Amino acid sequence: MLWPKSLNKKIKTEVKLAHLTSFKVGGAARFFFEVKNIKELREALIFTKRAGIQVFILGAGSNILVGDSSLDGLVIKLSGKFFKRVHRKGACLEAGGALKLNHLILYAKNNGLSGLEFLAGIPGTLGGALAGNAGAWGKSIGAQVKEVRVLDYNGKLKLLSAKDLKFSYRKSNLNRHVIISSKLKLRKGDKDAIGLRMRDYFLLRNKAQGNNLPNAGCIFKNPGKNTAGKLIDACGLKGKAKGDAFISKVHANFILNKGNASSKDILFLMDLTQKRVRERFKINLEPEIKIWK
Ligand SMILES: Cc1cc2nc3c(=O)[nH]c(=O)nc-3n(C[C@H](O)[C@H](O)[C@H](O)COP(=O)(O)OP(=O)(O)OC[C@H]3O[C@@H](n4cnc5c(N)ncnc54)[C@H](O)[C@@H]3O)c2cc1C
Repeated sequence: MLWPKSLNKKIKTEVKLAHLTSFKVGGAARFFFEVKNIKELREALIFTKRAGIQVFILGAGSNILVGDSSLDGLVIKLSGKFFKRVHRKGACLEAGGALKLNHLILYAKNNGLSGLEFLAGIPGTLGGALAGNAGAWGKSIGAQVKEVRVLDYNGKLKLLSAKDLKFSYRKSNLNRHVIISSKLKLRKGDKDAIGLRMRDYFLLRNKAQGNNLPNAGCIFKNPGKNTAGKLIDACGLKGKAKGDAFISKVHANFILNKGNASSKDILFLMDLTQKRVRERFKINLEPEIKIWK
């Protein structure tokens, strides 16, 4: 592959993705690029578009299942200080797309800004959270967003304001965009009270999920009132295994990797779950995780 001279040395080939995802499964990316600034990112997007190369944007890899064979495309990971910055502007925080959520919420707490406590314990980056409108306990990040700075896949920089953005349950209209940064509108609050709320959410989460084997969080979206976990449990699938992958005995909407699970094992369990839930409840479970293959 003939990459432009400026990118040639920076683009790696056949980079294993398993260790870059929380599931710890999957094959290698044919091309991999850790971008440090907008110029590099723009160049890569413009070139891949012209060359017909598929692009995958990787955050912390906590909501992704990578296929077992080589991923034919360019995986781009935002990296470096520019994409991980955060600063306060009055009651708003402006943060880079690659900033980890736990750093973001700690920064908010230390600055006496409330509104993000419910995110305590959700892994991932701000970019990943905005792309999928991450949330918990009936709240989601989209509600706090004032604006989002993105590059579209033509390399065009855009500032999207609240009126341009559409957030719904684990969904946004930010796909086909690379999220560079975002401004979040928060409320002034008492640091200690914010810290206590974060701790409470964190403890609630540990109790509900109670596992520390590699996983990607909830596999399926909740279909309406019933949670996917309850439906899967009612089908008697807790503990069901394929290879080293198994359905959690604590939270049935989690699939855990005992060590050497393959993507194929996990997809088998996902198919089985969808089939059983469809047969029993006539409900189609839609994956929440993104499948890259
Ligand atoms: C133990 C555990 C618990 C979890 N609990 C929750 C929960 O309670 N609620 C919840 O909503 N999620 C939960 N998740 C899922 C996951 O943490 C979130 O979806 C998180 O926001 C994903 O962020 P990420 O950086 O890891 O994104 P990735 O997994 O790397 O990517 C996810 C998607 O976002 C896109 N993306 C990532 N960064 C960018 C960017 N800068 N620009 C454009 N697109 C981008 C990717 O292309 C991909 O489509 C959980 C996961 C785990 C492992």
